[in-house]
Amino acid sequence: MDVRLLNISALHQAYVSGDLSVEAVVSAYLDVITRKDEKLGAFLEVFGSAAIKRAEELDQRLRNGEKPNGLFGVPVALKDNLCLAGTKTTAASKILANYVAPYTATAVEKLLASGAVVLGKTNMDEFAMGSSTENSSFQKTKNPWDTQRVPGGSSGGSAAAVASLETLVALGSDTGGSIRQPASFCGVVGFKPTYGRVSRHGLIALASSLDQIGPFARNVEDAFRVYATIAGPDPYDPTTVTAPIFDAETLQKGFKNLKVGILKDAQIEGMDESVAKNIKEAIRLMKNSGVEVVELSIPRARLSLAVYYLIVTSEVSSNLARYDGIRYGLTEKFKASENFLDFTTRVRAKGFGAETQRRILLGTFTLSKGYADRYYRQALQLKSVITQDFAKAFKNVDVIFGPTAPTVAFKLGEKFEDPLTMYLSDIFTDPANIANLPAVSLPIGFAHQLPVGGQFMGPSFREDLVFQAAAAFEKISGITDLIAPAA
Ligand code: GLN
Repeated sequence: MDVRLLNISALHQAYVSGDLSVEAVVSAYLDVITRKDEKLGAFLEVFGSAAIKRAEELDQRLRNGEKPNGLFGVPVALKDNLCLAGTKTTAASKILANYVAPYTATAVEKLLASGAVVLGKTNMDEFAMGSSTENSSFQKTKNPWDTQRVPGGSSGGSAAAVASLETLVALGSDTGGSIRQPASFCGVVGFKPTYGRVSRHGLIALASSLDQIGPFARNVEDAFRVYATIAGPDPYDPTTVTAPIFDAETLQKGFKNLKVGILKDAQIEGMDESVAKNIKEAIRLMKNSGVEVVELSIPRARLSLAVYYLIVTSEVSSNLARYDGIRYGLTEKFKASENFLDFTTRVRAKGFGAETQRRILLGTFTLSKGYADRYYRQALQLKSVITQDFAKAFKNVDVIFGPTAPTVAFKLGEKFEDPLTMYLSDIFTDPANIANLPAVSLPIGFAHQLPVGGQFMGPSFREDLVFQAAAAFEKISGITDLIAPAA
């Protein structure tokens, strides 16, 4: 039996029957990391011996009669912008290369309290800015379906690690698509909760008004389990809410009572025809299964991309001001000839990569006197208009289905020199962040021998509807638990 092919509930059964120990499972995953990760580059750090030690503790708890539930004995990987006390948390930036987290993120605390075993920290675009993980200051991550290609981004390491069976599940963060787009490129499930659902305490901020933490898994059920574990209010993050989290029964309901909306304006230039074909196929499959599918129009949804990049750059310029060369991470010796501004400029120029510098510059401009009204505030106004447009649409449908990304995984280097084309990768994912909606990406088919992702979005705080639709689609399509060739 290959333990890596078991989902969480099957693992738990094997723990109860004594067929498997947590240590055997954790060792099996660590073995894959040892064999594969030099080539894939998904991990920045692996906690081999700590993971084994933790597994032994959990095995002792099993011997003491504990019944596994939640994430007991489940190997997880963490995007390297999530703090884990006493370990390096770099956000893949040279400016935080030696930063050791003094505390643990709430979402990670919840994983640990539920019995998860952290295998390591995964690669990402620097400060989560990017769509290919090529903006990491440390290494390139390869797509396990084709190692000439990117895994997507910014949570590319987490997506690649799950797709290549280096871990069972992983956490990422999604500000404009950074969980869903890499999930779609790597053939796994990626879920972004509603803003406010999961505490951001201990997540290194990109854009605080949009960032959310969420799971990667190889099937909807496992993704739901991780989501249900990390969700909930947290006194350390006042934007979290107490809305009900729902139970796993929602996964069993099929498409019953779900009306699915399709955006007819979701056509863009540069959309890969075979991705569009897969989406049409998926819609046909739903209709043939008796699902009520209706066309909708939300013309302003496509403005989300522009709104997103205005808000993100503005918040980046403000959030990243804290990396001044004194308080966090990278520092240098003061030169006698320097004042504070010279000093901080020198350290920041050395510590930040090109994309980060570009966004700080853009955001400083969009927030500057005279331009803040024209750019930043206008973006905020449009954000609320787009939010209302979606809220209105959800009066008529329960979920909205469409593509996750306009293309399949592209080649390493293909878009790296062209930031605007890279930004276009987010065209279908940004609306959920801008309108505060939960959204999932799941594999729906293949094009060019690479996985294609489809996305379900739901009304704010109706994660149940999104998971219900995803589980129902997974069932009728039979596309689940894919194994990438490089796995
Ligand atoms: N691709 C988007 C960006 O570069 C998404 C980032 C994210 O969601 N963290 O900003």
